[in-house]
Amino acid sequence: MAPIFTPLPDKPDHNALELEILETWEREKTFESLRAQNAGGPRFSFVDGPMTANRMVLGVHTAWGRTLKDVFQRYKAMRGFHQRYQNGFDCQGLWIEVGVERDLGLNSKREIEEFGLAEFARRCREVVVRSARALTDGSVRLGQWMEWGNDYFTFSDTNIEYIWRFLQIVDERGWLYLGHRSTEGCPRCGTSLSQHELTQGGVYQDRIDPSLFVRFPLLDHPGESLVIWTTTPWTLPANVAAAVKPDAEYGRRENGEWVAAARYPDEAFARVVPGAELVGLRYRGPFDDLGPGAEVEHRVIPWDEVSLEEGTGIVHIAPGAGQEDFELGLAHELPVLSPVDEAGRFYDAYGWLHGLSTTEAADQIVGRLAETGFLLEAGTYEHRYPHCWRCDTPLIWRVTDDWLIGVDEVRQPLLDANATVEWTPAYMGKRMDDWLRNMGDWNISRRRYYGLPLPFYPCSCGELTVIGSKAELLERATAPVEDLEELRRPWIDDVRISCEACGAEVERIAEVGDVWLDAGIVPFSTLGWESPEYVPQGYATGAARELTTADLPDHAYWEQWFPADWVSEMREQIRLWFYSQLFMSVALTGRAPFRKVLGYEKMLDEKGREMHSSWGNTIGAPDAFARMGADVMRWQYCSQPPNQNLLFGFGPAHEIQRRLLTLWNSCKFLVDYANIDGWEPEWADLESGPNAELEPLDRWLVQRTHALVSEATESYESWLTVDVVRAYEAFIDDVSNWYIRRSRRRFWDGDTVALRTLWFALVQGLRTVAPLMPFLSDHVWRVLTAPCTGAPASVHLAGWPDAAEPDTGLLAEIAELRRVVELGRQARATSGMKLRQPLRALVVEGARLAESHAGEVADELRVREVSFGQVEASELRVKPNLPLLGPKLGKELGAVRAALQSGDFEQLSDGGVRVAGHDLTRDEVLVEREGKDGWVVAAADGVTVALDLHLDDELVRAGRVYDLIHAVNSLRKESGLEITDRIRLTIPEAASDLLEHRDWIARETLAVSIDAGGDELALAKS
Ligand SMILES: [Zn+2]
Ligand SMILES: [Zn+2]
Repeated sequence: MAPIFTPLPDKPDHNALELEILETWEREKTFESLRAQNAGGPRFSFVDGPMTANRMVLGVHTAWGRTLKDVFQRYKAMRGFHQRYQNGFDCQGLWIEVGVERDLGLNSKREIEEFGLAEFARRCREVVVRSARALTDGSVRLGQWMEWGNDYFTFSDTNIEYIWRFLQIVDERGWLYLGHRSTEGCPRCGTSLSQHELTQGGVYQDRIDPSLFVRFPLLDHPGESLVIWTTTPWTLPANVAAAVKPDAEYGRRENGEWVAAARYPDEAFARVVPGAELVGLRYRGPFDDLGPGAEVEHRVIPWDEVSLEEGTGIVHIAPGAGQEDFELGLAHELPVLSPVDEAGRFYDAYGWLHGLSTTEAADQIVGRLAETGFLLEAGTYEHRYPHCWRCDTPLIWRVTDDWLIGVDEVRQPLLDANATVEWTPAYMGKRMDDWLRNMGDWNISRRRYYGLPLPFYPCSCGELTVIGSKAELLERATAPVEDLEELRRPWIDDVRISCEACGAEVERIAEVGDVWLDAGIVPFSTLGWESPEYVPQGYATGAARELTTADLPDHAYWEQWFPADWVSEMREQIRLWFYSQLFMSVALTGRAPFRKVLGYEKMLDEKGREMHSSWGNTIGAPDAFARMGADVMRWQYCSQPPNQNLLFGFGPAHEIQRRLLTLWNSCKFLVDYANIDGWEPEWADLESGPNAELEPLDRWLVQRTHALVSEATESYESWLTVDVVRAYEAFIDDVSNWYIRRSRRRFWDGDTVALRTLWFALVQGLRTVAPLMPFLSDHVWRVLTAPCTGAPASVHLAGWPDAAEPDTGLLAEIAELRRVVELGRQARATSGMKLRQPLRALVVEGARLAESHAGEVADELRVREVSFGQVEASELRVKPNLPLLGPKLGKELGAVRAALQSGDFEQLSDGGVRVAGHDLTRDEVLVEREGKDGWVVAAADGVTVALDLHLDDELVRAGRVYDLIHAVNSLRKESGLEITDRIRLTIPEAASDLLEHRDWIARETLAVSIDAGGDELALAKS
C-alpha cells in the first residue's frame, strides 16, 4: 500500500526542490489562479521601481529588493488583495552607455560620434533587450511573481512623452532655466552630474593626491609671499585670488612667508597681523607665464569660511575649477579661468599643458613650480574624493551651462507631501526631509547620447520652446518628418521647429536628460495619467516596440491605482527614485505618489566589506540559487532589520539551512509516524485546531499556533520581515523542542490527537511563512495536505489564516516552564554533569507560573524532585565592574575588591552594594550567584534554578541504564532497523546488575527479550 504522505528525505535539496516547484507553478498556472481568485478583491497598489537593464546576471543585492517586494505582494495576495504586478526596466543613461562603450572598445565621446549615433543607439537597445531577459530569468528563479512580459521600459516613446509633458509644465511655471555654474563632472564621461548622483554609494573613495605648499610672491612687498596649500595641482593655472579669514591672525616668518598663526602654533613670527590687513594685496600668480593667467590681477580676498583646520589658512581660489571658488568669484567679481574642456584636457591657451588631462598635468605642474621657485613643499595626501559613480574616474569641477529646474518654489509642497508618507524605518523619512530642505536646483541635462532627449528648442531671439508631446513636435516641425525610429538621438536631432516669436528655424539642444526623470515619471506613464483613452499595448512604443504587452491605460485607471499604497527600495533611493517620483508627482498633482515606503540599508559581504568584483567577493544570483537556494537567500534577506546593513554570504546561508532543518525534521517526523499509523489529516482541522479530546500540551500547541499567526500578521502589517522570521523560528523551536520532544511516546503509540495537533501547527505555520520562502513552504504544504480533500493545491492559494485570540495565560506559563528547563540545562552544562545522569533535586525560584509543571521539569531535567521556593544553596558573588570602577576608585579599588571577595559587603535596595565605605550602583558591580556545597546554580531574567549534584548508588545505576538505552538505540539505527522493529537484546555481563530494570530497558528499546552475557552489546531483529 502506498504511504499516505510522500516520505521526505533526511534534508531538503533546495535547488532541486525549487526547480520542481517552478515547474509545478507553471503547469498548474498557480499565479494566474491567484490573480483570478483576487480579481474582485480590494485594491493594493504597488508600483515597482525599474531595474537597470545593463546587467546580464541578476545580482544578489538586486535580489534583496526583489524579494521584499515579492514577500509583501504575496502576503497581500494571501489576504485577498487585487494587485498590479508590473515589472519595469530602466533603459537609458550612462549605465547603459558605458557598458556599450566598453563592449565596442570606445574610449571617448569623439569615438562614439565616429562610430555613429544611430548604430550606437541600436547597440544600447540590444543591451537592454538582453539584460531584461536575463534579469527576468533571475527574478523568476528567485520566486518573484510578476506579470512578466507586461513590463514597462523607460525608453518607450510613451514614457518619454510623459516626461516632456512634465518639463513643459515645469517651464510654464517658470522653474526651468539654463544655469551657468560650477559643477562636478566626469571627464571620461564628458558630462556634469547632479547633486543626487553624487550621493550614490561608492562615489566617495579614498584616494592619494599630491599635497603641495606653494608660494605666491607679494608684488608690493618684495621678499614676502603668501603660502597656500592644494591637492589639485591642475587648478593652479586657473588661480585668480587667495582668500584669508579676516579675523584670524596671520604671521610672517623670518623668510617672508605668510601663514595663519593658528596653523603653526610653535613658530615665532617676525610680524603678526589680522587677516583683514592682508586683504587687497596683489601677488604674482604661479602660471602668469601662460596666457590666461597673465591677464589677471591676482589679489587677496576675505572669506569667513577659510578653514584653520588644515592647510596654511590661506586658500587658493580658482573660480573656474571649484564650486565654492565659483560662488566666491561671483561675490568678488573675480575673473573665471576655465583651463580644461569637458574631457578634462587643457585648452590650447595653456601652452605646454595643452591636451594634457588633469592627472597627467599634475607632475609637470609640480616640476614647473619647483623650477620657478614657487614650490615650497610637495608630498602626498590621502583623502575621500568623489569619483564618477559609473566609471570610477575622479571628478573635476568645471563651469558649464546646464539646464536646471529651480526647486525653491516646490520645496515646501515637497516637504508637505513627504509628511503624508509613512516611512519604515522612520528615520528614512527624516532623511528625505533633510534632503528636501537642503537640495539645490535639479541639474537635468547630460551631455550624452542614449537618454531622454530634452525637448528644449532655444531660439537666438530669446524664445525657449519646450515641446510637450510627439504630436506637438510633428506639428511644429519645419519639414515633414518621415522616419522617426524612436524619440531619441540621433533621429530626433534632425527635426527642427520654427520659433513662434520670430519664425526662425530652431534646433533642439543636444543634451539628454537625467535618468531619474525616466524613473520618476513611472507612476504617471504606466498608469495612464490624463490619457484620454485606454490603449491596449499602448505602452509598447518607440524603443519598447515588440518588447512588452503593457497597455497605456486611461485616466480613470490612474485614479484607481494612484497613489501607490506601498513602494520599497534601498536607502540610497531616497535622493534618487523616491525623490524624482515625489518631485514629479508634487509638480503634476500636488500629492505624494506613494503612501508607504519600506527602505533598507546596504548589502555587504559576510565579513562586512563592500562587494567588489575586483575583490572577488561578489556573488551572482545564479551561484547563490545553486549553492544555497532561493528560499535560503530570501530567508537571509528577510532576517535582516531594514535599519542595518545586510552581511550576505554562504556562511550565514549555511546557518539558515541548519535552522530550517528544524522545520524540515518536524515535518518529516509527522510524515514518518503518520505513515506508520496510516493516519490521514482532515482539512477541517485547519480551521481552528483539531476538534478532539485534547491533552494540555495539545491545547498549548494550538494556542501557540494562534499566537504565531497573530505575531506574523502584526509583523507583515508593520513591514518587518525580520519579526516574521523571529516569530516563526521561535515557533518551530517550540514545536520541535517542546511539543514533539514531550510527546514522543504518544507518537510511538499512534496517538491520533497528537498527530492531528502537530499537523495543524505545521500546516498553519507554513501559511505564515509562505510569502518569505515560497518554494519550501509550498513543497511541504503539498506533501502535508495531499491526503486531504478540499485543500487548495498550493499554499499560495490557501489564503491568510484567521488570527484567533491566543490564550496568553497558558502561553506565558509554558514559556516560563521552557525557561526553567533551559536554565536547568545550562546549570547541568556548567557542572559538566552529563544529561543522562539523573539527579536528586532541583530548586526553582522566581518562576511561579511554571509551578504546576513540576513533573515536566523533573522529566526534562532528569531530576527526582523539583521544588519551588527560595534558592538557598547558593551564595552571592559580587565583582567590581572594572571599566567603570577602575577610573572612579583609583588606588582604592584594591580595598574594594578585597572586601567584595571576602563577602564583606551589604546589598542596597536599588541593586547596588555598600562596600569599604563606598556605595556602588548596580552598574558598577557584577552580581553572580554561585552554588555551594555540591549545588550548581543558573539564573537569568529573575529566574534562578539550583541543581543538587550529589550522587548515590541508586542515581548512578539509573544513569547507567540511560547510557545503556542510548547505546542500544544508537546501535538500532546503525543496524538499519525500522523505528517499529522489535529486537532481542544482549547486554554485557558486566552490566548484568542493570537487569533489575529490565522492563524499563525493554520499553525504551522495543526489546522482546534481554539477556546478559559476553563483553559486547548485541541485538538481533526479533
Ligand atoms: Zn564617468
Ligand atoms: Zn525666435
